[in-house]
Amino acid sequence: MPKTKTIKKIAVLTSGGDSPGMNAAIRAVTRKAIVNGMEVVGVQKGYQGLLEEEFIDFSMRSVSDTIQRGGTILRTARSEEFKSDEGKKKAAEICREYKIDAVVVIGGDGSYKGALGLSHEGIAVMGLPGTIDLDIACTDYTIGFDTAVNTALEAIDKIRDTSTSHERCSIVEVMGRNAGYIALWCGVASGAEDILIPEKYTYDEQDIINHIIESRKIGKTHHLIINAEGIGHSTSMARRIEAATGMETRATILGYMQRGGSPTCKDRYYASIMGAMASDLLYEGKINRVIGYRNGEFTDFDIDEALSMTKSISEYQYDIARVLAH
Ligand code: ATP
Repeated sequence: MPKTKTIKKIAVLTSGGDSPGMNAAIRAVTRKAIVNGMEVVGVQKGYQGLLEEEFIDFSMRSVSDTIQRGGTILRTARSEEFKSDEGKKKAAEICREYKIDAVVVIGGDGSYKGALGLSHEGIAVMGLPGTIDLDIACTDYTIGFDTAVNTALEAIDKIRDTSTSHERCSIVEVMGRNAGYIALWCGVASGAEDILIPEKYTYDEQDIINHIIESRKIGKTHHLIINAEGIGHSTSMARRIEAATGMETRATILGYMQRGGSPTCKDRYYASIMGAMASDLLYEGKINRVIGYRNGEFTDFDIDEALSMTKSISEYQYDIARVLAH
């Protein structure tokens, strides 16, 4: 598989869960590609839209007035059809028919796997990390995480206020799929008493109950627990904790609100740089790469290599979270 190729026409799509900042990425991919002399088509509804030839010819103006908007102007989807070998072959044939040399995929690691499959069918790809979950191994930053944690934090602060007034225990469930990054960041930033993340949780609720009883003894008037989606069961957990401690306990599942909203400055900025880099790399003929941010630098990796990487929550940061919660 050659790693360089002359790219004249690119397609851009968003795939998997939407995340704030995707529009800034689409805009930057489009504008930098056009400035570089390439043609751009927007694909609606991710890989499914690619299979259904839902293409829009993009100009500089197609992406006007989008940088501040949440969601994705291209819509997004999860496509079972594309996952099959026949689906990827058909998608590659459609790309060839439309003379699309490369597809820029903005999404999570599932979308990257799809992109890798498409590259095996002879279509050049470029991945941009678009997920609120921060769970892509090759990068310390993903588009949408910053907005999502700030949206969640605003809600958690409000719940904390009323929790203190009523001397309640509150369990707030945040998103993140199987990763605990959103929970860890929101837990530390909200001063939560307990932070439950899938990577560390022992499923021993007695630990939490003991912690609540201890906290009451030292005069804490509320008990805030941030629970990650990957653990879930917040409502039944609240019932069990209330029964065991006698402290009124309520669960709030923040849900999809964390995916929406106007992106923060950081998400707009990083998505803009990453999107522009994607088009520059393709212009230089570099293909089958993904863009990341590591050790203070924007960088790129081979997509195969990126998908084989792993990352984990820092032990040190997790320990700090526990110490500060006392
Ligand atoms: P998020 O992290 O926000 O959920 P994601 O990109 O990981 O985003 P997925 O639902 O896992 O979301 O993947 C999005 C789409 O990518 C799938 O619907 C499918 O079309 C394609 N895809 C996922 N995994 C594969 C795979 N192993 N092979 C081919 N295509 C895949």
